[in-house]
Amino acid sequence: MKDRNALIKKINKKLIERFGIPYRAEIPPDPLDMILATILSQNTNDKNSYKAFQNLKTEYETWEKVRTANVASIENAIRVAGLGKQKSNAIKNLLSELFEKRGALSLDFIRDEKSDDALVYLSSFKGIGIKTASCVLLFALEKDVCPVDTHVHRIVNRIGIVSEKDRDKTYFSLNKKFPKGVAHPFHTNLIRLGRQICKPKNPACKVCPIEKLCNYEVKNFEDVNIPERNDFMLLDHVN
Ligand code: SF4
Repeated sequence: MKDRNALIKKINKKLIERFGIPYRAEIPPDPLDMILATILSQNTNDKNSYKAFQNLKTEYETWEKVRTANVASIENAIRVAGLGKQKSNAIKNLLSELFEKRGALSLDFIRDEKSDDALVYLSSFKGIGIKTASCVLLFALEKDVCPVDTHVHRIVNRIGIVSEKDRDKTYFSLNKKFPKGVAHPFHTNLIRLGRQICKPKNPACKVCPIEKLCNYEVKNFEDVNIPERNDFMLLDHVN
């Protein structure tokens, strides 16, 4: 565990040298806003999920109004983010269930919970998986956990930090005593690496900033066209 955490810190340092320290808002997002935004971000790009979130806020003003709206009208408001039926059902269900359980539309009470307990609670809602729940932990609650999306899953397995076939299993292996204070830049910059350099096919190992730290058995040292540094945030990503 000690060696593994030292490796994670070394990788984090190299990624910061390459991509910089990712922006982090001084005031973290509200956990309920965050979980709804993360539902909207599934299988679309950042621009469209942001637009869908803004549409919801503009059209309904409060989450209470979304809770009592019908699913078809929510679906209409978030159409730009795709998977409208699935996402509108997940949003409506989450708000209704939260209201039933707590009598209020707020997730502030989980701020003081341990990470594992907060993860179990959030992922108990229908349509909320480990990845979405762990994003709330990292981005809204500032816990030391590294969410695992498709990029993080692929890269940490290629490097050899974990050896798991399943994304959620990767999350639990990776987050066993994850080092303090590095989860945000590590997670965010791994996604950048995955979008730009360590792609599913033909990874650009020749220009990879962590090549010396990676144990992938079939590295690719052919020349690969990679997007301009500033383009990667606009590329579609699959959660
Ligand atoms: S060396 Fe290649 S496989 Fe390893 S992380 Fe870098 S791009 Fe990915």
